[in-house]
Amino acid sequence: MAQLSPLLKQATPVVVDHGEGVYLYDTNGRRNLDFTAGIGVTSTGHCHPKVVAAAQEQIGKLIHGQYTTVMHKPLLELTESLGDVLPEGLDSLFFANSGSEALEAALRLSRQATGRPNVIVFHGGFHGRTVATASMTTSGTRFSAGISPLMAGVHVAPFPNAFRYGWDEATATKFALQELDYLFATMSAPNETAAFVIEPVLGEGGYVPGNTEFFAGLRERADRHGILLVIDEVQTGFGRTGKFWGHDHFDVRPDVIAIAKGLASGFPLSGIAASTELMAKAWPGSQGGTYGGNAVSCAAAKATLEVIQEEGLVENAAARGRQLLDGAKLVADKTPQIGDVRGLGLLVGSEFTTADGGPDNATAQAVQKAAAERGLLLLTCGAHMNVVRMIPPLVVTAEQIDEALAIWADAV
Ligand code: PLP
Repeated sequence: MAQLSPLLKQATPVVVDHGEGVYLYDTNGRRNLDFTAGIGVTSTGHCHPKVVAAAQEQIGKLIHGQYTTVMHKPLLELTESLGDVLPEGLDSLFFANSGSEALEAALRLSRQATGRPNVIVFHGGFHGRTVATASMTTSGTRFSAGISPLMAGVHVAPFPNAFRYGWDEATATKFALQELDYLFATMSAPNETAAFVIEPVLGEGGYVPGNTEFFAGLRERADRHGILLVIDEVQTGFGRTGKFWGHDHFDVRPDVIAIAKGLASGFPLSGIAASTELMAKAWPGSQGGTYGGNAVSCAAAKATLEVIQEEGLVENAAARGRQLLDGAKLVADKTPQIGDVRGLGLLVGSEFTTADGGPDNATAQAVQKAAAERGLLLLTCGAHMNVVRMIPPLVVTAEQIDEALAIWADAV
C-alpha cells in the first residue's frame, strides 16, 4: 500500500472526479466553481470539446516523436500558429514541458548569448521550483528553504510594489529604478549582467502589476548596457490579463518571453520565444529534453489558440476581469481586514492585512477554507500567503462571476 508524500501540500480537501468548463465535480458529487484553473492553466475551461477532440485525434496518430530525433507535424503546426500571436520580432521558438524548464532555457540562452554570468530578478518574483529557478525566486522563502547552496550570480532588485511600500506608484517606481542602478554600482556591474528576469504582474508574489514607467526604465537600461529583458509570461500569457501578453499593458519590448500554463489547456507544454538572431548566439544543440514539445500537447495547444481566438477569450478576460475586480473591491470596502484589491484581467487578488498593515495570512486562509466549503475554489499567494487570488478559466460568464462574488462575500 503506497501513499502520497507529505512533500505535497494540498490547498483544499477536494478530490476531483471530472471537470467541465469552470466547474470541477468532486467524488462526493458536488459541483465546485473553479477559480484556480489549475493555477492559471485551464483558460479554455476544463475539457473544452475542441481541445479534447484535437488531443484524442493526435493520440491515435502519434503520442511521442522526440524532437531531437525526428520532427513531427503538431510541433511544426503549433510553431506556425504561434507566429500569429508572438510579440514582434520574437520569431524563434524552443519548447519544453513546464514553466520552470522554460525559465531555465531562458537563463541558459541569456548566459550563452551574452557570455555574462549574472541575472537580476525582482523582489516577489516567482520563476519555478528547480534549483536554478528557485534561486531566481523571491516570492517566499518556502521555495528555496533548505536547498542551499543556490545558484550563484542571482541579484535581486526591488519591484515597484506601491501597496507594500506604502507609497504611490510613481514614488515606488522611482525608488525601484534607483535601487537597480545602485545594484549595478555595487553587486552586478552592467557588463557582468546577462539578463533582467521579470513577470509583468507578480504572480506567486501577491498579484502586483508592474507599470509602464518601470518597464520603460528596464528597457532603457537593457539597451544601454546590452542586457537582455526576459519577460516571464508563464502565468500572464495567452489572454489571462485581458491583453494577449501581460507585458502588452506596459508597452515594452521583450528580448525573450517564457510561456507555459495557458498555452495548452492543461497538457504539459512550455517554451521560450526570442529573435532568430538572439537564438543563434546560443550553442546549437545545448538545449532539449526527452518529452519537450510532446505531440499531443502541441495538438492541444494549437486547438487552445484557436479557441482563444474564435471565442474572444482575451476580450472576455478584460470584461469579466473588470466585473470581478469591481465586485472584489465592493467586498473589500466593507471589510477592514482586506487592505488592497488589485489585478489585471482575470487575475485578481485581495490582500488581507492586520490592523497595523502587516500580512494577515490566518484570515486569508480561513476565508479560502470558508469559500471552499461553499463550493468556490480559490488559492492564496504572497510572501505570507495572505493574498487570496481569483484566476477563473477565461471562458467564465458574467453569471458565474456574480455567483463567485456572492460566495466570496459570504465567505469573507
Ligand atoms: N513562472 C511563473 C510566473 C509561474 O507562475 C510559474 C508557476 O506557477 C512558473 C514560472 C513555474 O512553472 P511550473 O510550475 O510549470 O514549473
